[in-house]
Amino acid sequence: MANSVLRERFQAGETIIRAGEEATCAFIIEYGAVEIVVTRDGAPVTLARRGPGEIFGEMAIVDSKPRSASVVAVEDCQLLLVSKTQIQARIASLDPVMEMVLNVILARFRETVESLGGAPRSVTGSAASPEQLRAVIAYADAMERIELEQTVRFALEQEQLSLFYQPIVGARCGRAVGFEALARWRHPKHGLVSPQQFMPAVEDGGLMADFTRWALSEAAAGAARLSQRVANAFVAVNVAASDLYDPWFASHLETLIAQHELRPGALEIEITESNLVADPEAAVRALGRLRALGVSISVDDFGTGYSNLSYLLELPLDKIKIDRSFSQKVATSERDARLVEAIAHMGHALGLSVLAEGVETAAQEAALRDCGCDYLQGYRYGKPAVEILGTDGDAATPAGPAVEADVGAA
Ligand code: C2E
Ligand code: CA
Ligand code: CA
Repeated sequence: MANSVLRERFQAGETIIRAGEEATCAFIIEYGAVEIVVTRDGAPVTLARRGPGEIFGEMAIVDSKPRSASVVAVEDCQLLLVSKTQIQARIASLDPVMEMVLNVILARFRETVESLGGAPRSVTGSAASPEQLRAVIAYADAMERIELEQTVRFALEQEQLSLFYQPIVGARCGRAVGFEALARWRHPKHGLVSPQQFMPAVEDGGLMADFTRWALSEAAAGAARLSQRVANAFVAVNVAASDLYDPWFASHLETLIAQHELRPGALEIEITESNLVADPEAAVRALGRLRALGVSISVDDFGTGYSNLSYLLELPLDKIKIDRSFSQKVATSERDARLVEAIAHMGHALGLSVLAEGVETAAQEAALRDCGCDYLQGYRYGKPAVEILGTDGDAATPAGPAVEADVGAA
């Protein structure tokens, strides 16, 4: 990925941007000051001065044109870089009308700059009106977000991310028959960071495709290691809808399967119920391609998406994963037990296997077995751990069935 630098420092007098250059990022001034300069009749003309907290260089990123002016440091300064991807991913998600409005404003802004008018300042004055206060809060939020996105990008490049593996056991045999791969960020200062904290930055920062590519590659290598120790076991990877429907996705999987000589069923893709129903036609096409590659498909967080069941179950699926909110009530609520039983019956009638997530207690396990679930997953059998067959978890691993080498079908 381009642009792994988060911050850059410049000394007074140094040129930061040259007019006419290709733009790769915008800058936010953390301290110091810069001047925006154009050349008129061979002489430099200063259009504006920017100080701490202000952004510059964003225009050429938004409209993908060369830099319209130069920028020079007039004091020693430190700049936070905002990548092209971070801005363009947001533009791509804009409503078409808003995108048009943005382009019209930019065209006018460029005209102003080019005719040497004053460029408007993004933050002006020091009196704290309610609008300015709101602007300051919005600014602080945006800075925090941009910084997190840049750090996640950096983490991906610096290999600070890892996949942890949580066992999935066969309900009847009680042994590990597969593993779910769950991402963790080993933050140099904050320790292990959970995906709930960093996935939003991955998504909003336009990093999802890079992230998923990485996760699939890691999981395929994990599945290859696993297949040497445990016959017929699988590794399940979580995938966002935006990737599933992208053509690179199936080709990347195809390459990985060939590279690691994975047997059909060694890799499984988990997609949440709500992601599957967003675009039915695209889902049918994408899932069909994965099927043809021998990749199993499982519906994650089943029961939470309020989706059109009859449509969902027409898709080429292999497994449903009943959300842990149901598994955890099954031992204490007769109503939830009947519900899980009904889901399991329905799944079986449609030729799908049924897994219950989030199993923590012996009572839940017994109830879920009685409901007819084929697979069980949860802290009772192991927390997500560093190595696929290891015990080095991200928290104390509770006692659970040992992972045995000769594992049959559930
Ligand atoms: P998920 O796919 O529903 O993953 C299950 C989550 O439940 C995991 O949280 C797991 O650690 C936790 N869990 C498992 N057993 C139990 C249990 O017995 N009790 C309780 N209370 N929790 C249990 P985790 O690892 O924090 O992951 C959170 C979510 O982040 C995942 O939810 C998944 O949606 C997402 N995620 C994780 N890795 C990836 C990835 O590589 N790609 C994508 N797109 N999403 C990921
Ligand atoms: Ca999952
Ligand atoms: Ca889940």
